[in-house]
Amino acid sequence: MNKFDVIVVGAGTGGSLTAKTLAKAGLNVCMIDRKAEQNIGDKVCGDAIGKHHFDNIGLAHPSGEELDQVIQGIKVYSPDMETEVNVQGEGVHGYLVNRLLFGQRLVKEAKQAGVTLLTETVVTDPIIKDGYIVGVCTKNLKTNKATDLSAKVVVDASGHAAVLRKKLPPEFGIETNVKDEDIEICYREIREIKTPIDDPGFCKIYLDLQKVPGGYYWVFPKSPTTINVGLGVAMVEGFPNPKDLYNEIVASMPLFKDSKVLTGGGGLVPTRRPISPMVANGIIIIGDAACQVNPIHGGGIGSSMMGGVRAAEIIIEALKKGDVSKEALWPYTGIFMKEYGAKQAGLDIFRMLLQRLNNDEMNYGMRQHLITDDDLLKASMGEDLKLNITEKTSRLFKGLGCLSLLKKLNTMAKLMREVKELHRNYPDSADGLAEWEAKVVAIEQKAKNL
Ligand SMILES: Cc1cc2nc3c(=O)[nH]c(=O)nc-3n(C[C@H](O)[C@H](O)[C@H](O)COP(=O)(O)OP(=O)(O)OC[C@H]3O[C@@H](n4cnc5c(N)ncnc54)[C@H](O)[C@@H]3O)c2cc1C
Repeated sequence: MNKFDVIVVGAGTGGSLTAKTLAKAGLNVCMIDRKAEQNIGDKVCGDAIGKHHFDNIGLAHPSGEELDQVIQGIKVYSPDMETEVNVQGEGVHGYLVNRLLFGQRLVKEAKQAGVTLLTETVVTDPIIKDGYIVGVCTKNLKTNKATDLSAKVVVDASGHAAVLRKKLPPEFGIETNVKDEDIEICYREIREIKTPIDDPGFCKIYLDLQKVPGGYYWVFPKSPTTINVGLGVAMVEGFPNPKDLYNEIVASMPLFKDSKVLTGGGGLVPTRRPISPMVANGIIIIGDAACQVNPIHGGGIGSSMMGGVRAAEIIIEALKKGDVSKEALWPYTGIFMKEYGAKQAGLDIFRMLLQRLNNDEMNYGMRQHLITDDDLLKASMGEDLKLNITEKTSRLFKGLGCLSLLKKLNTMAKLMREVKELHRNYPDSADGLAEWEAKVVAIEQKAKNL
């Protein structure tokens, strides 16, 4: 059986950064993807990434053909289209990338660092021995040949498929199942439009809780005439077909009159707090496979790359000590939670409330700027959510019979602070996990009952 120091399953954004970081430290790394090499990176996605993610992990910013559009802000529209929240500032500066070329660059950098890349190879199962993951079962999609590969540590970076996570036995203590209600199902197209838009530097998000339950639709310019446009809904019971909804609501927007569809397709993204823990004996789970995605907007490229780099750093230390047990890998979850997971957990509480508001409440809230544009930006960067509730707004809401919304928002802001604090103080060992988890679930329950 072929033996590696580390096997990384999935050559997406998270997997590529994990593999590259490990190989740079001199480890013998194998990265496996089911796609043909020339297709790696091609994914149904909004293609938007914040600039800060590149600075955070020291990755070169996109340029040349890889860079489609520089983004300077986000405009969010209320359901009645009467309010436009315009979020601008350092925190939302970013890029629309050519997803294929971006992915190709990351894979190339991993290979240059010394990673062995196996493509058109599907990972089917983890190999488990004496309570440890010691390798993976693979099948070559061209030859149908099955091969077992072994490694000291395996990383599940297989995205939403989470091929290894889903197959871990209960004694590994990993959440194998993500609830449908915590997943967004999306349909997206890239369209060429006739008349150039006048503000290509802005990503636009449209909220309509009645028509697009638990989600939103987006218009992200890749150039003044090329638009990444799509729609996502929460997979709650009886959810509408996102493609039908897209055709009904989005494709009919005046902007797309006489436009040409360049490509289209569906995709899934988990939008909840990260799984906990993300490690077990011989395995670390990263990226979408570990639900490392922003629960509000569904962005997960940057956090998967950061999650991959941090996982590699922990694995390098563990291999130096010759110990790949759950205890040795344990610090990973806490490190991720401090850097990003706490913010995710807070925003997950926000999502739980947002998904249950109605359009009237959303229209009132946005019109009265209950959260100012500046505070929305700060909250999206991980700061505590500040509510702009003055005596005047309280009186107005009372008059409109909407006082309960203010109370809900206040309680939500408090619960967000509490859950973030818990995630910043993730238990140092598995001993404290049950108590920690119970506290998190209790907060979520309160948020769901708001
Ligand atoms: C419609 C949509 C819009 C989105 N928009 C944005 C956005 O604008 N900005 C943003 O930041 N994020 C966005 N996201 C989320 C983002 O795409 C993901 O968070 C990000 O790609 C996660 O990276 P990853 O490496 O974990 O997984 P992926 O990039 O999905 O990579 C997983 C890799 O694993 C491979 N794989 C899967 N199963 C197997 C197997 N069994 N064997 C071998 N290989 C396997 C796949 O082929 C793939 O290459 C969007 C997602 C969707 C669905």
